[in-house]
Amino acid sequence: MDLYEYQAKELFAKHGVPGTRGKTATTVDEAEAIAAEYGVPVMVKSQVKIGGRGKAGGVKFSPDVAAARKNAEAILGLDIKGHVTRTVLVTEAADIAEEYYVSYLLDRSNRTYLAMASKDGGMEIEELAVERPEALARVAVDAIVGVDAAKAHEIAVAGRFPEEVRDQVENVLIKLWDVFISEDATLVEVNPLVKTPDGVVLALDGKVSLDDNASFRHPEHAAFVDNAAENPLELAAKEKNLNYVKLDGQVGIIGNGAGLVMSTLDVVAYAGEAHGGVKPANFLDIGGGASATVMANGLEIILGDEEVRAVFVNVFGGITACDAVANGIVQALQILGDEANKPLVVRLDGNNVEEGRRILAEANHPLVTLADTMDEGADKAAELAFAAAK
Ligand code: GDP
Ligand code: MN
Repeated sequence: MDLYEYQAKELFAKHGVPGTRGKTATTVDEAEAIAAEYGVPVMVKSQVKIGGRGKAGGVKFSPDVAAARKNAEAILGLDIKGHVTRTVLVTEAADIAEEYYVSYLLDRSNRTYLAMASKDGGMEIEELAVERPEALARVAVDAIVGVDAAKAHEIAVAGRFPEEVRDQVENVLIKLWDVFISEDATLVEVNPLVKTPDGVVLALDGKVSLDDNASFRHPEHAAFVDNAAENPLELAAKEKNLNYVKLDGQVGIIGNGAGLVMSTLDVVAYAGEAHGGVKPANFLDIGGGASATVMANGLEIILGDEEVRAVFVNVFGGITACDAVANGIVQALQILGDEANKPLVVRLDGNNVEEGRRILAEANHPLVTLADTMDEGADKAAELAFAAAK
């Protein structure tokens, strides 16, 4: 789960990372009241889960209360790359002498954690990473040792932070590591980390991604979930305990086992190239127990996706044999009734496949087409999806 800046900053404050005071507002009046309370100047900042808010006009310096009000009016409702601003963060504005960059992330390819740091932070960090990669230090962090004083020093030196702020930066690095580990994050980023003209180091922005697999250890993180901003289909799937991820295509996918579903996505995307470029509409792993209820729940979610034109059910019967899966599909279609309104291509293989196919053939549902192989099924589903889209 990605956090909003204000939520990231709540975690920063909890772990002693220095920053500025701030409060959120959802109306212009609230924003104005916060500005009046803090005294000006303040920053008014769009709270959306996407970077580049500054460049999109979503972060505004406000020298007086009237300006804070005007800026809140402009930013509330502002669409930044498809993310509509519902909340603004109003913070005390800091004076900035220098802007730095620091982050921790999971480095999957090197199977370790990685610290990235640079004395040249700010809004151009992406350009910096491409044009002067040597200016963005990358320091591996051992998961067991973590960031102790020695490691923090190594990162600060590698990032070429000026001598006069090095102690403060090292302190911030240690505290951010504490956020990273004790909150079970996969990303903690501060850009900019600034030095004020009086030489004080502050975190003025914060980006944190939490590891959802560790959420059971953090009941307090449930408060960060913003249901209104989540995809409604993903939310409905979560309520039904389904492993579902919405994608942008037209071919709904149901499979059992994450590996099989992933390869089904690849095969459908490939097949789609011959059929008008249709793509997979989702990831859905119904797991081992492909019961009628699970199948009906899965189909209901997928058919609720307006983009979907056809569905490919790709199941390999194991402990749950193909006949049980076939019965599940037949019953699911009964449960759904008129809600099942898009063609279904079914490929079954594995344990008891003959019986499974017989059950589906006998049911002879008008929406169901049987496929013998995964490639054939993917091709058929892509073809049907393209035909329905025309
Ligand atoms: P982003 O564009 O989404 O990364 O949003 P940031 O929170 O990083 O804000 C964008 C830019 O606004 C920063 O790079 C700063 O230059 C500026 N900014 C943010 N907070 C302050 C502040 O307290 N004072 C001043 N003067 N500028 C700020
Ligand atoms: Mn930023």
